[in-house]
Amino acid sequence: MSEFSDKLAAFRGRRVLVVGLGRSGVGAAKVLAPVAARVVASDQRPLEELDPTARRLSKFGVELRGGDQGPALLEQVDLLVRSPGVPWAAPLVAAAREAGVEVIGELELAYRLLVTDRIVAVTGSNGKSTTTALLGEMFRRAGEEVVVAGNIGVALTAVLAELEPTTTVVAEVSSFQLEDVATFKPHVAVLLNLAPDHLDRHGSPAAYYRMKWRIFENQGAGDYAVLNADDPSSAKADNLRAAVTLFGRRAAPGPGVWLEGGDVKYDVRGRRGTLLAASGVRLPGPHNLSNAMAAACASLAVGVPAAAVAEALASFEGLPHRLEFTGEVARVRYVNDSKATNVASALAALASFDGPIVLIAGGKSKGEDFAALASAARGKVRAAILYGAAQEELAAAFAGVVPLERAATVKEAVAKAVGAARPGDTVLLSPACTSWDQYRDFEERGDDFKRAVADLSRGAG
Ligand code: ADP
Repeated sequence: MSEFSDKLAAFRGRRVLVVGLGRSGVGAAKVLAPVAARVVASDQRPLEELDPTARRLSKFGVELRGGDQGPALLEQVDLLVRSPGVPWAAPLVAAAREAGVEVIGELELAYRLLVTDRIVAVTGSNGKSTTTALLGEMFRRAGEEVVVAGNIGVALTAVLAELEPTTTVVAEVSSFQLEDVATFKPHVAVLLNLAPDHLDRHGSPAAYYRMKWRIFENQGAGDYAVLNADDPSSAKADNLRAAVTLFGRRAAPGPGVWLEGGDVKYDVRGRRGTLLAASGVRLPGPHNLSNAMAAACASLAVGVPAAAVAEALASFEGLPHRLEFTGEVARVRYVNDSKATNVASALAALASFDGPIVLIAGGKSKGEDFAALASAARGKVRAAILYGAAQEELAAAFAGVVPLERAATVKEAVAKAVGAARPGDTVLLSPACTSWDQYRDFEERGDDFKRAVADLSRGAG
């Protein structure tokens, strides 16, 4: 038997309810179906609205339940697996706990089934996907076997079967996934930064930050905690058992990666030197320099050669929908930053450009205060084009600070931006809100923006 089937055997005979049928729930149901006595998978959406991958679960013997979230689902169940999208406090999850049913998250389930302990986990308010993908690139450049998964788009439970004990897993981990970790113990845990986000779910910034800190909870003396020296809230390293390694623009007080005289320097696990010039980091913007240093810190901590780290930093262009250059029309540059769904990430976008910006913002608000965004826009944003459900909330913050226009859709916002922009300007979609008022996800919104820009270049817009 492979080590994976050994691990899986621990779930033999369990009667499982998987709640939430996004990618994580589907991964969890599929991995447990061959061994569990019973797997029920439920989602509050009706079955016909679920992705085909979720509907196909019945082929694996999974009992599907759509729409129904009543406590009757808990009958004949002794383990509930929670998808990250389903809050720890959701009534069904709470009822399970009260009834003595074991509740674990998809991340915890995956961890219990991992055959490798080479786990690098990345969390933070912004930059997780970028840093996770960059880390993957560093391991690949070093010729190491690596699998990149988690919140980045491939569920951890979906990649388990392909792992070897020598594989490194780079996992993007969200606060939703950390809500109920029990034994999850990454060898290297990275906390990129902390800024208010998901207040609608966690209630307060303090509650949200507490979740993020749980990434370090089970680490031991042989592990590494990678923290941001520039972010006061995340540099509080008290009570950590893991070795603290700091990244940041300030000179590092101890081991870590930092900027000195325009170079990215490192001192990790007794290895010291210069990785490359900061200007040689391919990703744009000061925030990405911070992500780059975080990734360097984490990969050096697990022994990736400095040369491979430097090569990845010099070549990795970033992911789509994060400050993605989309085109230039009539000497105006268009940038798609649809993934900027909170104020901190939109602020980072504004800080990444020198010249005047025509900002397109809007979508569904997460309950954040937009005042900081409006003050950063002063003197830098030529005009703000506001669209979507949060339009008036944004307008209240921006009124009197920068000229405003309103649009119903992203397409219309692009058309208005064309009118507002002058040669040399950047039109930036950095919405500071989620896309869920008009789109399924930020990708759909970014693609819509890119289509509108492509139409412009063809002269059809
Ligand atoms: P996450 O996975 O944490 O949402 P992404 O890498 O997908 O992070 O980036 C999300 C958004 O945040 C993008 O708009 C990106 O430009 C911005 N961003 C990336 N890194 C940072 C950072 N360190 N600080 C602030 N904003 C950032």
